[in-house]
Amino acid sequence: MVVVMAPEATDEDVKAIVDLVQTAGGDAFVSRGVSRTIVGLVGDVEQFGALNLRSRSGVLDVMRISVPYKLISREHHPDRSVIRVGGALIGPDTLTIIAGPCAVETPDQTLAAARMARAAGASILRGGAFKPRTSPYAYQGLGEAGLRILADVRAETGLPVVTEVLEPASVDLVASYADMLQIGTRNMQNFALLQAVGSVGKPVLLKRGMSATIEEWLMAAEYIAQRGNLDIVLCERGIRTFETATRNTLDISAVPVAQRLSHLPVIVDPSHSGGRRDLVLPLTRAAIAVGADGVIIDIHPEPKEALVDGDQALVESDIREIASITAHLSPLMGRTLSPAPQPAPVG
Ligand code: PEP
Ligand code: MN
Repeated sequence: MVVVMAPEATDEDVKAIVDLVQTAGGDAFVSRGVSRTIVGLVGDVEQFGALNLRSRSGVLDVMRISVPYKLISREHHPDRSVIRVGGALIGPDTLTIIAGPCAVETPDQTLAAARMARAAGASILRGGAFKPRTSPYAYQGLGEAGLRILADVRAETGLPVVTEVLEPASVDLVASYADMLQIGTRNMQNFALLQAVGSVGKPVLLKRGMSATIEEWLMAAEYIAQRGNLDIVLCERGIRTFETATRNTLDISAVPVAQRLSHLPVIVDPSHSGGRRDLVLPLTRAAIAVGADGVIIDIHPEPKEALVDGDQALVESDIREIASITAHLSPLMGRTLSPAPQPAPVG
């Protein structure tokens, strides 16, 4: 069951609902989004009926939700959400391009990639400082030094930054630099990490686990929402199948399915799904055409030198093509490109 608070509800109104529910033996989780506050109730629904929640001060609506994910479900929030990341928007009316290197390697490489991202129409810069690598001998990222590079490049280009966080102990550190926290495919069911990013007050990009069903993915998002953070963007990045021609299999149908079940935005990663540069542009077209709210794309100024995922990174000559794809397809899909924030004036 979910209690939707009216826009004018006070903190006391919210607290009164939480107290009532707890006194009745239930649990209440408050989630504050940009436009509304909702309280998710866990416990005996019949017992809550006796509390007359609908008539309490500040309450707009009370709903029974039939799916196991309550706060992120479209049943209680039919309008699709808009998530703000710095000055960029991710939602149903915009097309948001997130682009940048797979890994932050050097200040020059990151700045060059950010400039390419901007030229491609990106409004958010991606780049990993903490890299989850299959091999413990592979490049693991620059850690905090990489976060500092991302912050410097944000100051230079104005682009807000999304970067991955691997463990609960690093959430505060990563959040102190980043505008959005990424949960990678390998951590989609790291529940302690989901709860930690749910408590830190920054938007979250939640990648689908490579072997997760859509329902498991949505339940992972619910863990974040249940800690009070509704600023979540879902990212389909390909799943494991029997096919070996591509790195993963892009589950394109996951986009409309997840959008129908959840009010959260859904974007696509055409780079990690195909794992090949020649597939990135076709999969980007497919993502936009199926109705994705954005794409997250690997680019690199020198892919041959890249320390991670050079095979799937777009190069300078691809940049104009991305801009052209989005210029042609966005109007057909009723979307405008998300605004790209400008750098703060110096002095
Ligand atoms: C990434 O985006 O850098 C990444 C590691 O992606 P995924 O978690 O989807 O493999
Ligand atoms: Mn990568």
